[in-house]
Amino acid sequence: MKTSIIVDYEKCTDPRSCKKCMQICPGALFICYSPDYESNDPTEWRVDVAFTDLCTRCNDCVDVCPLGAITIK
Ligand code: SF4
Ligand code: SF4
Repeated sequence: MKTSIIVDYEKCTDPRSCKKCMQICPGALFICYSPDYESNDPTEWRVDVAFTDLCTRCNDCVDVCPLGAITIK
């Protein structure tokens, strides 16, 4: 079954101030981006997972997220 990692952006509204998922993922699969990569509005930034196929489903990102914003399916 293909892995999906879903980030709830209603909960994760300032990923650059947190970065916990990015720091803990053993495959460094999380990326952080904004529409123009230069936005000063923190709410325009998003974390998402690149290369989902490399996810080992270790669940570390789910466990570390202080806002419960990450779901793995
Ligand atoms: S489950 Fe593990 S490998 Fe997959 S994105 Fe989360 S921290 Fe990374
Ligand atoms: S750990 Fe959770 S709140 Fe922090 S950047 Fe990742 S998804 Fe957002």
